[in-house]
Amino acid sequence: MNSGDLIAAAATPRIPVRDRAGNALGSFPVRRIYCVGRNFADHAREMGAAAPASKAERGNPVFFMKPADAIVIDGDVPYPPGTRDLHHEVELVVALGRDAPAGELAVEAASELVFGYTVGLDLTRRDLQAAAKAKGLPWDTGKGFDHSAPVGALLPASDIGGIDHLQLSLDVNGQRRQQSTLDALIWDVPDILHELSKLYALRAGDLIFMGTPAGVAALQPGDECVARLGDAIELRCRIR
Ligand code: MN
Repeated sequence: MNSGDLIAAAATPRIPVRDRAGNALGSFPVRRIYCVGRNFADHAREMGAAAPASKAERGNPVFFMKPADAIVIDGDVPYPPGTRDLHHEVELVVALGRDAPAGELAVEAASELVFGYTVGLDLTRRDLQAAAKAKGLPWDTGKGFDHSAPVGALLPASDIGGIDHLQLSLDVNGQRRQQSTLDALIWDVPDILHELSKLYALRAGDLIFMGTPAGVAALQPGDECVARLGDAIELRCRIR
């Protein structure tokens, strides 16, 4: 404990980093978790929102946040309190390894900030989110709760290269629930970092959950989830 602290400081959440062969490289300390809403047209439509027909019509991205300590790295997810409708949303997760320079980040410079990628679940208390949406209230209780951000190990960007062709998928109890390639993102990674930089100072340690494709549905205690991104990134978790 630091001298002067009157209580013990909480531990910084950390995500393991592995290479393509599965060798442990170290860990990634998490600072903030930004999330993007409505970033796949098929999911926007299934939620009853309009999907933009072209890049010119896409407007502004929807952002929300989760607390850093919502991260789960061991796949053990307790069914959360306060809901009867816990939903899965499988997502690309981007990890930043460098601070953004001051001011607006150019789209062309955005990739230089990326440390690596993994796959995660943006777990959602859909009933609470829907009630908040209906009243025009914030989504926090529907999105930013304990254990709401299970993630796989991070793979360095240098081990992956281009990501547009990668397939994102989620199986629950062996049944395919969600799948899409990343070229279907309405706002790609450089676009999102550019937009976020207009609103926040991006820093090393930040994560961005990039939004989910169609197929979101309820999870029950006992469900086994396997999320994948390409052939090298996997997250296994169980709802208890
Ligand atoms: Mn989401």
